[in-house]
Amino acid sequence: MTDIEHEFTRITRQRYSAMVTRFAPQYDKLGRLAKLGYTVPFNLAEYRAWYRHKLHGNLNGTAECEYCGANLHMYAMQTEHRLPPVQGGSMDLSNLCAACDQCNQQKGEMSDTAFIVLRKLITNRLTVDDILTRDDEDRDIPVLNFTDIDRTDLLGRLQRCLRLTIKSQKRQKVDAAVRREQEAQEWERNAQPTR
Ligand SMILES: [Zn+2]
Repeated sequence: MTDIEHEFTRITRQRYSAMVTRFAPQYDKLGRLAKLGYTVPFNLAEYRAWYRHKLHGNLNGTAECEYCGANLHMYAMQTEHRLPPVQGGSMDLSNLCAACDQCNQQKGEMSDTAFIVLRKLITNRLTVDDILTRDDEDRDIPVLNFTDIDRTDLLGRLQRCLRLTIKSQKRQKVDAAVRREQEAQEWERNAQPTR
């Protein structure tokens, strides 16, 4: 087995068992069910085939993040549920996609449609007005179909992003004011009549 094949075997085993563990039911100290689990319905070999397919069959090559399009080598590629199982999404391979770490983290338990809207809002490719005044024919943005989890997560994340933007705008304003003040002082100094 070549080095890269060996690494592929190792990485996919790690990812697969992490997935099984993550979705396994959880019990409290008294052995009572604390969190419902989900069964991973495919085996390691099937997962490997899926992983390899995402890398376009080339273990030295890259997969694309389904959300931002980033190129991801074998180690960077994360396995993501488009519709999270907690929202009723399937545990099947058909519901899995490749995602970068950042998108995976940001998306959390949002549905893929909610996350795509969030990304468009953050990157200004879509405004809140677009959503509010959107044509009912426009099924591209199924905002009205959002679940409660989607709405809560989308709003929370959007608020955080907006706070960050506002903060950095405030800082820029303060910086600009300080700069103007310094320039004014300098101008006054230079304007002093020389004795
Ligand atoms: Zn991404």
